[in-house]
Amino acid sequence: MHEHRMLIDGQLVEAHNGKTFQNINPATEEVLGNVTDGSHADAQRAVAAARRAFDGTDWGRDHEGRKKSLLQLQQALEAEREDMRAELIAEVGCPVLLTYGPQLDAPVNEAVKWPAEQISEFPWKRSLGEKDPFGWGMVASREVWKEPIGVVGVIVPWNFPLEITLNKLGPVLAMGNTCVIKPAPDTPFNATRLSRLIAEHTDIPPGVVNIVTSSDHSVGEVLTKSPDVDMVAFTGSTATGRKIMEGAASTLKATFLELGGKSANIVLDDADFPSAVGSAAAVCTHAGQGCAISTRLLVPRSRYQEAVDIVTESMKNIGYGDPNDPANLQGPQISKRQQERVLNYIEKGRAEGAKLAVGGGVPKHLPKGFFIEPTLFIDVDNKMTIAQEEIFGPVLVVIPFEDDDDAVRIANESAYGLSGQISSGDINRARDVASRIRTGTLGINGAVWYGADTPFGGYKQSGVGRQCGIEGLEIFTQTKSVAVPAAT
Ligand code: NAD
Repeated sequence: MHEHRMLIDGQLVEAHNGKTFQNINPATEEVLGNVTDGSHADAQRAVAAARRAFDGTDWGRDHEGRKKSLLQLQQALEAEREDMRAELIAEVGCPVLLTYGPQLDAPVNEAVKWPAEQISEFPWKRSLGEKDPFGWGMVASREVWKEPIGVVGVIVPWNFPLEITLNKLGPVLAMGNTCVIKPAPDTPFNATRLSRLIAEHTDIPPGVVNIVTSSDHSVGEVLTKSPDVDMVAFTGSTATGRKIMEGAASTLKATFLELGGKSANIVLDDADFPSAVGSAAAVCTHAGQGCAISTRLLVPRSRYQEAVDIVTESMKNIGYGDPNDPANLQGPQISKRQQERVLNYIEKGRAEGAKLAVGGGVPKHLPKGFFIEPTLFIDVDNKMTIAQEEIFGPVLVVIPFEDDDDAVRIANESAYGLSGQISSGDINRARDVASRIRTGTLGINGAVWYGADTPFGGYKQSGVGRQCGIEGLEIFTQTKSVAVPAAT
């Protein structure tokens, strides 16, 4: 059973105006159900509730109570794990395989639990020792206190909706904040379920977590502009990230932004080509709808044809279609709009002179759902639109390089700086290249950096700040320096 209500001030509620909107299965185009359609007024009520809960309760200082509540939420999530798996596949169109990793199991296992466990370890107070700052005989004993930042507006996209929500919610609550979450209109059921789990299975006080589902993107602006919100934490497109920063500027809010990417997968000439080049087809995972996916394959010109042959073969063999079928790595795009957006990029690639080696269209054998064929462009110049812009589709571009310096230059010749991969037979050579790539995460020889304890975020226009890890806890805190007279 899908929950259709949202969470405001501890209550599962309908939108004030009684409106609802449809949740569509992107693989079948069927209506999964209706969800309450929150308005600006509902978002304002939610902000007021979060403000009251922050200012009027002891939530921010009750470390033990927070830990207990978060572990209750963890248990509640675990108890409904299999229902969530089916629901996520239906509303997100994500392949079932991915739910055994970052789409569901990894965040359910760690995203709330790890921050909860850090509450007792976190350096809430540290001593700077004694000092007479001006030499006036006034010796002070100084401390630095870490405190919650206040009310956090959390704005979530549709590609990894539960993962992104939990990886923000866990740290936000562990650090003592209250929040208002605005899920993406395309994937609301994971958020309404979370609303129910919080309301019915935890002692999280009313107003500490509010979740406002809406079909209207502009409801998010209530969070970016309200003077009662202290910080905005956002994941989504760079274009929207820019608007959020602009909105937050009017009240000088802190912002955490996790934005787009155009990451490079660099295969050096001494790498194991069948494995390193062949696995580049993983770009099609979840139909390419992941910000950290390596969408530019950089291969040495000296072994270019060999690389093209390997990657062409592996792109042709990607399983795609019904996301419930474990043989499929690729499901549909989230919506008709996204399908058209990706097709436009493919058209642009052709027009700018890249050579289409695999796919490039809508699969005829899948008449329902927003599918796109796994698509490979070769002979791509890094200046082309398909090498510079985030396509968010199952599209891989292959770019040749001359030597390591050239590979680094091409990888960094991007407005983005989110992630990437490097493969080499010499781990020190790979590490050297890694130290010159301007991105927030990197995997060497197929190793995966992901985890609740691993900071994740971008350089350049891929974002501001880090999610997860100690950095992802600190970002949701304020710093207060306090002095008391030193004991004489
Ligand atoms: P988006 O960035 O527009 O939306 C993400 C979230 O922001 C949604 O909850 C949306 O309702 C909200 N939002 C939109 N406009 C807002 C505003 N002005 N103020 C406050 N909140 C606002 O993403 P989209 O339109 O769903 O997708 C478009 C493109 O964004 C994709 O094709 C892809 O390139 C990119 N994208 C990136 C990521 C990522 O993880 N980096 C995730 C989703 C989409």
